[in-house]
Amino acid sequence: MKKLETMLIHQGNQYNTTKAVASPIFQTSTYLADTDLSAYIEAATATKHPEFYHRHGNPTNSQVAEIIAKLEQTEDALVLATGMAAISTAILAVVKAGDHIVAQHAHYSGTTLFLKEFLSDYGVEVTHIDQTDNQAFESAIRPNTKLIYVETPSNPNLDITDLTFVAALGKKHGITTMADNTFASPINQRPAAYGIDVVLHSATKYLGGHSDLTAGVVCGSQEYIERVWRRSLVLGASLSPFDSWLLLRGLKTLALRVRQINENALALAKWLEQSTLIKKVRYVGLPNHPQYALARKQMQGFTGMLCIEVEGQNEEQEYQRAQIILSKLQVFINAASLGGVESLIVHPASMWGSHHSSTQKQTSGITRGMLRISVGIEHIDDLIADFQQAFEHIQK
Ligand SMILES: *Cc1c(COP(=O)(O)O)cnc(C)c1O
Repeated sequence: MKKLETMLIHQGNQYNTTKAVASPIFQTSTYLADTDLSAYIEAATATKHPEFYHRHGNPTNSQVAEIIAKLEQTEDALVLATGMAAISTAILAVVKAGDHIVAQHAHYSGTTLFLKEFLSDYGVEVTHIDQTDNQAFESAIRPNTKLIYVETPSNPNLDITDLTFVAALGKKHGITTMADNTFASPINQRPAAYGIDVVLHSATKYLGGHSDLTAGVVCGSQEYIERVWRRSLVLGASLSPFDSWLLLRGLKTLALRVRQINENALALAKWLEQSTLIKKVRYVGLPNHPQYALARKQMQGFTGMLCIEVEGQNEEQEYQRAQIILSKLQVFINAASLGGVESLIVHPASMWGSHHSSTQKQTSGITRGMLRISVGIEHIDDLIADFQQAFEHIQK
């Protein structure tokens, strides 16, 4: 098998049937059909046929899916229009009314909404547990549990789930295990290597990497991906040819980008940790992270995601100072999303104000003085200098 860096450039090139070195964009909704009717029926029913009708598939979608399946070490993959399309379609291919899911307290906000509000309307029950407590996963299992759903590192607090433990627990009880691997990216963590059945991504983030597209990916066994694909045909969230092409282009530099991001994030985390204006730096690559040993065991790199808590006399002052920092930073952009080449920063307590109740915020560890950072590939000196000048507005 080729190395990851080579696969990112050459995997799935058979889907480019032209002589162009860079795969063209197949900007078409439909394809010339075979006049032989039995061949036509075969194309109409084949899973992910790349040249029948766009909701069924597209050559670029097939190429991208093949690359990501190789990276995640699963048999197959399916690309969809957004990360949420991937997550909802993947879950709906596993559970039905009367089933039960074990999930975490902390998930991406859209996932939390889907688990807490959408699924309950369709008769699926969900138990939310503390992901740092292996025993809690086991205790939550019921006879009708069909899915264990995890996200690691989790959003925004960067807690780690023990993937080896969860995978073994699922196998022991015949329960499907699913992991949202968006925050780590396959460069830093491959859940399937530990036995997790299904790996999910918001490809909008690290996989695309340039903040110019939305996409999602479901990775799993061939048989499971076929089931997800059948669901996707009726749910209809197919990835557009242009976004798929942008994703293919972004993937080529994934390894380079993520390595630079890992390096920048560690250096920034270490610098922030020294500052008297910062109460706490939460980064999985720092030895003071409560699950540092587990992170080192299951991750090859520590990502560009970190959380800081601003120091203050009380919560109100911490909040005021977080606001000042946010408004004075010039290189870091105050914007939702993550995983791009540019560094972004958000205030989680405001961003999730509408989705989470205050108790929900507390259980997922969101405080008012907290800022979440997605480190990009700018020069580290400029990233540090940007915080330094922003901090100067507070000391006075
Ligand atoms: C952004 C994100 C999602 C949702 O992805 P979209 O592409 O915005 O639909 C899901 N999970 C995680 C961890 C994310 O960061």
